[in-house]
Formats: sequence, C-alpha cells, structure tokens
Amino acid sequence: MTESVLQNEKALVVFSGGQDSTTCLFYAKKYFKDVELVTFNYGQRHDSEIEVAKQIAQEQGLKHHVLDMSLLSQLTPNALTNHEMEISNNEDGIPNTFVPARNLLFLSFAGALAYQIDAKHIITGVCETDFSGYPDCRDNFIKSMNVTLSLAMDRDFVIHTPLMWLDKAATWELSDELGVLDYIRNNTITCYNGVIGDGCGECPSCQLRQRGLTQYLERKGAK
Ligand SMILES: [Zn+2]
Repeated sequence: MTESVLQNEKALVVFSGGQDSTTCLFYAKKYFKDVELVTFNYGQRHDSEIEVAKQIAQEQGLKHHVLDMSLLSQLTPNALTNHEMEISNNEDGIPNTFVPARNLLFLSFAGALAYQIDAKHIITGVCETDFSGYPDCRDNFIKSMNVTLSLAMDRDFVIHTPLMWLDKAATWELSDELGVLDYIRNNTITCYNGVIGDGCGECPSCQLRQRGLTQYLERKGAK
C-alpha cells in the first residue's frame, strides 16, 4: 500500500478510544484524505470509554459517529457489560468478556454507515495475535465479512486490519512510527476498571498492554 494510492479516499475507523483503535485512527490519518470515526455504545463497563473516545475525536478534529448498540447487553450476560462480574477465562479459554458475534454486528453497522458517508475503506483494530479467542476477530472472518458487505450493498468496500498480525509490542512500535506513542499511552483507555492511560495495572487488559509496552521499550533501548 502506498500513500499516493489512498490519499484521495475516505476511511471510516471503528473506534473505541482504546490503544488499538486509536493506533488505527492515526494510521488512517496518515493514509487517507478523509477520516471519520464510529464508536458503538453498548453499555460498556465504564461510561468513561465513550467520553474518552469523544475527547480524542475532538482533539483530532475528526467527525465522530456514536451509535447506540445497547441491545447487545440483552443478548448475553458477560463481564464487559455486567459490572458485577469478574473478568476471567472460561473453561474453553475464551474470556468471559466475549459477546457472541459482537464484531460481526459492529462491522455490519460500520458498513451501513460507510455506505451512507461514502467511505470505501473501513479500518478496524482487530488482532488475531492477542485475541484469538474471539472468532469474529480472526483474519478469515474479516475477509469473509469484506465479501459479505460488498455483496450486501453492491459497493467495493475494503476492510483494513493494520494490527491483525501484530502483538502488543509491535502495536506500540507502530504507534511510535506514527509519532504518537506518548499520546496513545496517556490518552487512551484499555483498562477494564476504567482507568485512563497506564490503567489500574491489575486487570488482564492492563497487564497485556503493559507487557507489550515494556517489551517494546526494552527492544528499542537495546537497538
Ligand atoms: Zn486495568
């Protein structure tokens, strides 16, 4: 992919205000002329996630669509939306933060919105390396979804997954290459306990994020 190919086109970024999707935001700003953001409000454990997403969108001067997906919490009890539940892994290794078909639904709505705003490109921060427990975040699903969206709306959509094969350390590296490592470290929210930036340090999400950052900074320091 070269800048000259894409710089005149429009992209919609699936955006949560977390590390991964904020990295995608800056990736999109680098490669596309027009960038808009879509955030799904589905009763996240912490309302602050939506506020963080709004804040980043505003700071970056990007048009931000927040879609109400609160019906997701009716579909399943799970640790992302049920504030009483502890976050852990089920016996099959799938985290209890898993909402069945969540990404399928999100990408469907993102596709419908992309159609309306005339964006050919949809960018999502899904990653097979760290979240292989989520089947609708895997590469083969995304390819299938790309075909489905294009057939459903008779449009030539392209779904981009710049983080698909990156581990957390490599995602930090990408943000550093984009010149926004510190911005992402300080302004995004990944923590299941709703603590912005480096987070609570205790939850699985914080541990994954911190481990990746430490690995990347050590590797960078060793160069
Ligand atoms: Zn945390």
